[in-house]
Amino acid sequence: MPDLVVIGGGIAGWAAARRAQQLGAQVTLVEKGADTHGDSNSVRSGGRIHAAYHDPHRPPDFLYETMLKKGEGTIRPDVVRAWSDNAGRALDFLLSEGAEIQRFAEMEFLHNALWPPQSPDPEVLKSDRPWRGKGTDLLLTKMWQSFLREGGDHRPGTRAVELEVRDGRVGGVWVEKQGSPRELIEARAVVMADGGFHANRDLMARYITTAYEMHGNQQDTGDCLRMALAIGAGTTNMDGFYGSLVVRTPKGEKPAMPTSPTVMIDAGIVVDGHGERLGDEALGTEEYSIVDFRCAKEVASSRTPDNCWVVFDHAVWDSRGREPGMIGAPPPNPLLAEQGILVSAPGIKELAEKIGVDAAGLEATVMRFNRFAEEGGKIEPPRSNRPQPILEGPFHAFRVLMAIFYTMGGVLINGKAQVIGKDDRPIPGLYAAGGTMGGLEGGPHNAYAGGYSQASTFGMLAAETAVGAAQPV
Ligand SMILES: Cc1cc2nc3c(=O)[nH]c(=O)nc-3n(C[C@H](O)[C@H](O)[C@H](O)COP(=O)(O)OP(=O)(O)OC[C@H]3O[C@@H](n4cnc5c(N)ncnc54)[C@H](O)[C@@H]3O)c2cc1C
Repeated sequence: MPDLVVIGGGIAGWAAARRAQQLGAQVTLVEKGADTHGDSNSVRSGGRIHAAYHDPHRPPDFLYETMLKKGEGTIRPDVVRAWSDNAGRALDFLLSEGAEIQRFAEMEFLHNALWPPQSPDPEVLKSDRPWRGKGTDLLLTKMWQSFLREGGDHRPGTRAVELEVRDGRVGGVWVEKQGSPRELIEARAVVMADGGFHANRDLMARYITTAYEMHGNQQDTGDCLRMALAIGAGTTNMDGFYGSLVVRTPKGEKPAMPTSPTVMIDAGIVVDGHGERLGDEALGTEEYSIVDFRCAKEVASSRTPDNCWVVFDHAVWDSRGREPGMIGAPPPNPLLAEQGILVSAPGIKELAEKIGVDAAGLEATVMRFNRFAEEGGKIEPPRSNRPQPILEGPFHAFRVLMAIFYTMGGVLINGKAQVIGKDDRPIPGLYAAGGTMGGLEGGPHNAYAGGYSQASTFGMLAAETAVGAAQPV
């Protein structure tokens, strides 16, 4: 019987499996995908390893305070403490496992990027596995090969479906493999690392939104969440996600040439199908990141998540519209017009009718917004910059949709990566890490610790607690 079964071959799973091996444990890793180390978000990732946009080797107290502030009282202090104390060690662990790291750019969150950022082979980039040979793939391949070399039991094409509970503790997991009968893998402990539930439309509709674009791995369907709930696990921050708004065509399709909507969101307003503003358009991530969360949560949780628009006037289109987007994205003007994405009309009422938004609602919203822009004072929802009023026709709009990379909430853990039950006590033998876990990220503004940092830190900690509990090291 193995000491540990790990569910999932992303960075959380491989960190748990390799750390447990180092501590002398016998480990089985089951992976739904049939492809080498796995078919994960981790291999698709940009692989920029940062801790809340800072270097993971920053002093732990600094990381702790930074993250707690971002979470605004909605994340668990013991989990944040464990992460801030161990994020630097997790990066060192990945380096010891063979990670190639280089500085991608000056910004601190890009100081530790898995290298190379993409495959050097143009044929690979055109293939259905464009991540082959990039830094994330090279690291996971090394961890997978070391695992096999040191006697680990890797089961690709195997899906975990149910936890085995005996005498109040988790003692293994039931798995399914195509063409084989359901099998129980008994073990002293189980680490759940299936990446979260972003690829499960039903769970997404229950917890986050009914309308979204998927940027993450299709295999991350929340199996661990379902299994853990079935045995009484707690959950937290289920509406949190790592994602942003993306531009859509007026019919809601993906544009041929995408660009970032951020600069226009910053200068205009974001409204739902009732013509009402949804949130503070100027309140983005505090750091300059590739993914800017601004208004993504508000659009996702709006009454019309598939019918939300950025609205602005011609003066803004002609000025801010010509600015480049995030990290070199082409300016919206003229790209959105050239692709038929921009909808224009001489008046606000006509614009609303063209885009299928309540006209009276939009007119009232613009009037309130203009009063705020001209006179200041208070506005609901609040607005943290001082925008220009929407005055000069023609008026313009383009459609936006939330795009998700992964879910931030999930199975509640403590600082030792133990899964916490509804009675607020650890469920013996059960651990969670990475996209499966909840407690570190989320809250009103989708507080982000860094997906790689979260996954590698808690994968490592889960192994250390589980192996420490199962056998002295
Ligand atoms: C495009 C993209 C870019 C990103 N860029 C960055 C970045 O630059 N920096 C950063 O910090 N983060 C980034 N992230 C986020 C980061 O990659 C993830 O947070 C992290 O990789 C999650 O790791 P994980 O091991 O928890 O999940 P995953 O890597 O998704 O691994 C989960 C694994 O579990 C398997 N699985 C699922 N269900 C089962 C089951 N029932 N049984 C067995 N196996 C199962 C899946 O097939 C998968 O292989 C990015 C994400 C994406 C999608």
